[in-house]
Amino acid sequence: MRAKTKMIHGGITGDDKTGAVSVPIYQVSTYKQDGVGNHRGFEYSRTGNPTRHALETVIAELENGKAGFAFGSGMAAITSVMMLFNSGDHIVMTDDVYGGSYRLTTSVLNRFELGHTFVDSSDPEKVEAAITENTKALYIETPTNPLLKITDLKKMAEIAKKNDLLLIVDNTFATPYWQQPLDLGADIVLHSATKYIGGHSDVVAGLVVVNSDELAEKVHFIQNSVGAVLGPQDSWLLMRGIKTLALRMEAIEENTKKIVAFLQEHKQVSIIYYPGLKDHPGHEVAEEQTNGHGGMISFDVGSAEQAEKVLERVNYFTLAESLGAVESLISVPAKMTHASIPAERRAELGITDGLIRVSVGIEDAEDLIEDLKQAME
Ligand SMILES: *Cc1c(COP(=O)(O)O)cnc(C)c1O
Repeated sequence: MRAKTKMIHGGITGDDKTGAVSVPIYQVSTYKQDGVGNHRGFEYSRTGNPTRHALETVIAELENGKAGFAFGSGMAAITSVMMLFNSGDHIVMTDDVYGGSYRLTTSVLNRFELGHTFVDSSDPEKVEAAITENTKALYIETPTNPLLKITDLKKMAEIAKKNDLLLIVDNTFATPYWQQPLDLGADIVLHSATKYIGGHSDVVAGLVVVNSDELAEKVHFIQNSVGAVLGPQDSWLLMRGIKTLALRMEAIEENTKKIVAFLQEHKQVSIIYYPGLKDHPGHEVAEEQTNGHGGMISFDVGSAEQAEKVLERVNYFTLAESLGAVESLISVPAKMTHASIPAERRAELGITDGLIRVSVGIEDAEDLIEDLKQAME
C-alpha cells in the first residue's frame, strides 16, 4: 500500500460488528472479562483502548514501524520516551530542539540525573565529539524551529550504530508523509500530533513509533506505568486528521513555494529560511531524505518594529504559537517562542528581532500573498 492509500485504508478501518465505516469512539474505561484473567484483548483503557489502538496501528504503518503509541501531548510522548533511560545516562541532543524539549531536559530530567549535551547536529563531527561513555541516545529534530536547520539522518544512524546508541527523531515538522526516519535508520520516531497530524488546531496529542518488538514492549510498559495516554475522542480526531494528511501536506507545499517565491522578490526581506531553497544550509540533505519541504518559512524584515507592524496588519495569518494547521499562523520567535533565550544567544543563533515565522495553511495562495504584500507596505 502506498502512503496515500494507507492513510485511508491502513490500520484498523471501521467496525466489523456494525459495518460502521469510521472507527467508533470507545468511550469506556473498563471491559467485561469472560472469566478471571480471560479478556477479549482489552481490560482497562490506560493499558489499551480500541479507538486509541486503531490510531496507534495506523501511525505505526505510516512510519513503517513495529508499533505505535499515543499520548496526551507531544511533551507526554517525549517524556515517556525519556523514561527509557536511567539516572547517570547521557543523551546528545540537537541544540535548537523545540523549547519544551529543552525545558524538559534542562529543568526536569536533570533532577533525575539524566545528562545531556546540546550540539549543532547539522555537523556530524560535533555529534560524535559529544558522545561520552554514558551516552545512550542521539535525540534529533530535523528540520528545526525557527531556522529550519537540517540534520543528516543517515549519518546520525551510522554514528548511533557505531556507538551502540538509540537514534530518536522528532518528526513533527516533516510528518511521515515527507520523511520516514525509521527507514533511514532511526529506532524511535515521535510527533507532536497537535501540529500537522491533527492539522486543525483542535487537539493536543503526541505519538511514538518504534522499530523493534523489544522497544515496543518497553514503551508500552512505560505508557501503561506512567499513564500519559490519549483519550478516545482525541484519538478519533487524529485518525480523522490522518485521512487528509497527504492532501493537506501537498496543498501546504504548493502554497509555501509560492509564498517563498514572493518573499524572494520582496526588497524588504533580507533573508529567508526554507529547506527547499538551493542556498539553504543542508538543502541537499533535505532533498535526499525528504519528499517535501513542509510549510514552515522564517524570514527577516529588518527590525522588531517592522515585524510587529506586519503581524498587526495581516488578515489571513493568525497571530499564534503552534503550527501545522489548515489556517496560516504567524509569529515573531524573538518575542514569543524564543523570548526566554537571552538576546545575545538569540543573535548568535540568527533569531533576530525582525525574524517572522510563518506556518502556511491551505488557503488560496494568492490571498495569502496579497495579504503579506499589503502588510509589508
Ligand atoms: C509542539 C512541539 C512539541 C510539543 O508538543 P505538544 O503537543 O505541544 O506537547 C514537540 N516537538 C516539536 C517539534 C513541536 O513543534
